[in-house]
Amino acid sequence: MNEYDSEIMAGLLKDSGYHLADEMEVADVILLNTCYVREKVKHKVYSKLGELKKLKEKKPGLILGLCGCLVQKEPKETLRQAPYLDFILGTSNFFELPQVLREICGDNRGGGERGDQVAVPFMAQARKRRTQVVRVEEGRAVPENLPKLRKRKFGAFVPVIRGCDNFCSYCNVPYVRGREKSRSPKDILKEIEGLTHQGYKEVILLGQNVNSYGRGLEKKIDFADLLGLVNQIEGLSRIRFTTSHPKDLSDKLIKRMAELDKVCEHLHLPIQSGSNRILSRMNRGYTREEYKCLVDKVHQIIPQISFTTDIIVGFPGETEKDFEDTLDLVKEIGFDGAFTFCYSPLAGTKATEFKKRVSQEVSKERLRKLIEVQQGITLERNKPLIGQNLEVLVEGISKKSPYELEGRTRGNKIVIFKGKENLIGELISLRITEAGCWALRGEGELTI
Ligand code: SAH
Ligand code: SF4
Repeated sequence: MNEYDSEIMAGLLKDSGYHLADEMEVADVILLNTCYVREKVKHKVYSKLGELKKLKEKKPGLILGLCGCLVQKEPKETLRQAPYLDFILGTSNFFELPQVLREICGDNRGGGERGDQVAVPFMAQARKRRTQVVRVEEGRAVPENLPKLRKRKFGAFVPVIRGCDNFCSYCNVPYVRGREKSRSPKDILKEIEGLTHQGYKEVILLGQNVNSYGRGLEKKIDFADLLGLVNQIEGLSRIRFTTSHPKDLSDKLIKRMAELDKVCEHLHLPIQSGSNRILSRMNRGYTREEYKCLVDKVHQIIPQISFTTDIIVGFPGETEKDFEDTLDLVKEIGFDGAFTFCYSPLAGTKATEFKKRVSQEVSKERLRKLIEVQQGITLERNKPLIGQNLEVLVEGISKKSPYELEGRTRGNKIVIFKGKENLIGELISLRITEAGCWALRGEGELTI
């Protein structure tokens, strides 16, 4: 979601006459758009800002801005830590960026009309200015039809619902992103149609809990219905979505996933813990048995589904037995992959009031064990793919191997292969020749 918001900010600036600098040192404006899902983010942001402060001392005209979740949660603290910031913009204000820059530059034309050429002569104006702008409001809707400068050239992010009403006891999101708000199906379909005209073959529908899509909208619609509508869009080949909350994954949605040809056979279904006691303290709204049942049901209806998940270890009160329960369930289910985290206490969340904190050493050791177990499982899940011909959407030069390309299967597995760059963005068929933990290797290159 954060990346999508950054794409909007870049799009707004481009429409206002700015262009992307190749390096930070030559930029007139530097923005950090922060995500604040774990405490570590804060240290990273302040350390980066320390670096940028030095750059600003050398170059007084430089405009520094901080946006996103960290600012939304702690505006005062942010300004105390980094008083030299020229502006801060919360998650409900980020789209006011061009107007804010005009204010900073002492240009009082107001409005926020796109296409206003304010960037030049930028530095001259910037040296004169001294205003610090602070915009951190709550609950404002993000306008539709904002320009975007998409970073991803293959799969485009499309938010369908913003915010979250679930209040899991460890999580910042409800506080920094506000209440759930679904976009209208009309706006979503229009955005995706536009993307297909630009050549995008895949969309990734975004939401903290896509399964609650539609609540509060005038027209009666749920996420399964939305998938049906998106599936009809001509020129689109693949639909992915993230994240599904287990407590809201309906039978209708599972059935629809199986029926709709463009919906990929991959489900990211965060489990967080395998212990019922911890799940209840996390306020997740399901038990390990219910989760397991759900996974079995999906397997029955979509046998080739690949499952990924999120797991937190070291949650307050997590005993060795609770952790063993998580390990057992992870082995029983056999996830294709997992994002694993040490619990990070976040001020203002319910879990910080819980007693029996788990020490960092114990959490780290549990994380290490969990990763080791999961890596073995991922490898076992990948091995049977050897010899199969799989459809791959080519995403670009491989991050691991600069002379090769990489793409993704419908099951969301990365495949590395030798091929020409003109295949980037194409759907091809590859025969899988090797299976590793992080990626598969393939050959062939039949364009589909
Ligand atoms: N909406 C998604 C999760 C979004 S946050 C869902 O409900 O599944 C992404 C992941 O970050 C979470 O699934 C969780 O595993 C992790 N996470 C969130 N808050 C955390 C915290 N305080 N400490 C450690 N991990 C956390
Ligand atoms: Fe956070 Fe829970 Fe909402 Fe996910 S569902 S964003 S973990 S509160």
